[in-house]
Amino acid sequence: GFKCGIVGLPNVGKSTLFNALTQTAAAQAANYPFCTIEPNVGEVAVPEPRLADLAKVAGSKEIIPARMNFVDIAGLVEGASQGEGLGNKFLANIRETDAIIYVLRCFDNDDITHVRGTIDPVADFEVVETELMLADLESLEKRKQNVIKKANSGDKEAKAQVALIDLALNELKEGRPARRADVPVDDRKAWNMLQLLTSKPILFVANVDEASAATGNDYSKRVEERATEEGAGCVVISAQIEAELAMLDEPDRTEFLETLGLEEPGLTRLIHAGYDLLELQTYFTVGPKEARAWTIRRGWTAPKAAGVIHGDFEKGFIRAETITFEDFIACGGEAGAKEAGKMRSEGKEYVVQDGDVMLFRFNV
Ligand code: GDP
Repeated sequence: GFKCGIVGLPNVGKSTLFNALTQTAAAQAANYPFCTIEPNVGEVAVPEPRLADLAKVAGSKEIIPARMNFVDIAGLVEGASQGEGLGNKFLANIRETDAIIYVLRCFDNDDITHVRGTIDPVADFEVVETELMLADLESLEKRKQNVIKKANSGDKEAKAQVALIDLALNELKEGRPARRADVPVDDRKAWNMLQLLTSKPILFVANVDEASAATGNDYSKRVEERATEEGAGCVVISAQIEAELAMLDEPDRTEFLETLGLEEPGLTRLIHAGYDLLELQTYFTVGPKEARAWTIRRGWTAPKAAGVIHGDFEKGFIRAETITFEDFIACGGEAGAKEAGKMRSEGKEYVVQDGDVMLFRFNV
């Protein structure tokens, strides 16, 4: 599955946020309990109100939401790239993620030590990102000589790789993350294979005090400005409140949200922001047994999307019967949609759209 890494300095609220995420998922989808893959990896349900509508129309017995993984990456301190703190273990954990969520401390509390002495979330971000840039620099320098040797002995792939390594090094040496590099579309795959920490998409989480959960505060405003400069998203959240919300059942939860002036839990916004960050979207399969959401990348064709359900669906793909979510609901389900001519038969080239209800025809 797709993974977002939760990254930040110590004592900024990473674990609080991670625990809230995983507990909420358990509460939200009793039929799909949160499972711990590793102590620091949590699989959460993606909140999807359309699933309930589909299940109602089709009389589905079960609702199965899409899932996404969050990884709590502890142990980063200044100097991690030089092996301080958990150093290398930490960096290896980040390497395996598809995107990075920077949790930044935007709350005052004299009882909770800030490792850098003052509350300055933008400076904290820069400290963490600098470590990641240094780690990228080092790993590229290490690899470069080897790749050059290969390129000189006529390896075409290696030649292309040298160019990409130089492209990344140019940015990093100027103190910029690798994601700023202008990578030609055709080279994207090879670029991703470099597995750079600073080429991953990023999202900011401004962790504010309880009183600022609905409004944000001066710290979180600075984080939002920085996020805008980066062209990145920013979610203002109070991890403390999310932790409390996660413990509550309905209707106490809704009541607590109202008291706080919040429309929905911050975690719902965070999960959706993570989903966008990874350029993910959802399609559905709907029947009497279950209404289920599946996660794919934007732009995936029908066979590739089918492969998420089972490899055989992709290999033996013939065609897909497709109904938009809106048509499915408006026509009262599959039979009605078919009758109204709203069920399309799509082939191998069809690019699946968010909200499509899909039925795959395949050979085994
Ligand atoms: P981590 O080291 O980044 O994982 O930080 P923790 O999640 O362990 O949090 C460090 C301390 O900050 C704990 O005592 C939390 O209760 C507290 N904390 C976390 N989030 C908030 C918040 O939103 N508001 C306040 N007031 N305290 C928080």
